[in-house]
Amino acid sequence: MDLHTIDSVEMPRTRADLAGLCATDGVMAGGTWLMSEPQLHLRRIIDLSAMDWPALTITEAGLEIAATCSISTLLAATYPPEWAAVGVFRQAAQALLASFKIWQNATIGGNICLGFPAGAMISMASALDAELLVWKADGTDLRCSTNEFVTGIARTILRPGDVLRSIRLPAAALRQPATLRKIAMSPLGRSGAVVIGRATPTGIVVSVTAATDVPYVIATDSDDPADVVAQVYSSIPAHAYYSDPHGEAGWRRQVTGVLTRAVVVELTGSGRMEGGRS
Ligand SMILES: Cc1cc2nc3c(=O)[nH]c(=O)nc-3n(C[C@H](O)[C@H](O)[C@H](O)COP(=O)(O)OP(=O)(O)OC[C@H]3O[C@@H](n4cnc5c(N)ncnc54)[C@H](O)[C@@H]3O)c2cc1C
Repeated sequence: MDLHTIDSVEMPRTRADLAGLCATDGVMAGGTWLMSEPQLHLRRIIDLSAMDWPALTITEAGLEIAATCSISTLLAATYPPEWAAVGVFRQAAQALLASFKIWQNATIGGNICLGFPAGAMISMASALDAELLVWKADGTDLRCSTNEFVTGIARTILRPGDVLRSIRLPAAALRQPATLRKIAMSPLGRSGAVVIGRATPTGIVVSVTAATDVPYVIATDSDDPADVVAQVYSSIPAHAYYSDPHGEAGWRRQVTGVLTRAVVVELTGSGRMEGGRS
């Protein structure tokens, strides 16, 4: 789409080049959303591609993902074999309505910064205990969890001039088996609910997105499907489930329980003990 209110495009190369950004500056990563609809409040595009941040950095501490890392780069990389959770990267990418062609340009940071409930990179990051690094417009750094970053439907803590720099996934979470379940009203539809489970030594950590206005991460102390579902239900307030054309709040709440049970059964194999009902 031609953005006819844009007067100039800047290509910052350093953090100093990002100083002085304001509300009429549109930070652009892959541009797949930014260029997809009118942006009447913007006068300038700030294209992050020249920042040249290393897309992925693997250390003993975990994985640092540059905000500008594309979804396809995340999927194509080779990770330490003991990182059992990395299968969730592909499951999360497939939970997006976007096709594999969009994966080439769409970035992890761009998806998170939109703050959409169906932002599957938000689901992935919240489930894997991510720490987000924000370069604030005033020159300071802010580190926060995904849950602290997303404050509502399409709302985040970002203020004009703030830039999401990276997403850090700790090795401890990456080593734990994880799996994702998604449901949508139609086979290729936008997600109505996304649930990711991660098996820890003390129970199952469950992340719920798409069904709720903000991500919920519930660290349960059980690996029994019924217990985990009960803990998830008691941790998410009824008002958190929302209605839109992709699903009604009551349906979202019900399917959250169904998907939670399914991830726990997959992670623990407990379906067999229940007579194969799952
Ligand atoms: C066909 C199609 C299907 C889609 N399906 C889904 C879907 O199912 N679920 C979903 O959530 N989204 C979906 N999207 C939107 C999707 O989230 C984005 O297209 C993509 O993930 C955004 O990444 P991007 O790098 O292109 O971001 P951009 O379009 O460049 O930016 C998106 C927003 O984030 C801001 N931003 C980007 N990077 C930063 C940064 N580092 N710091 C600060 N602000 C930043 C931009 O200013 C802009 O407001 C879809 C898009 C398309 C085209």
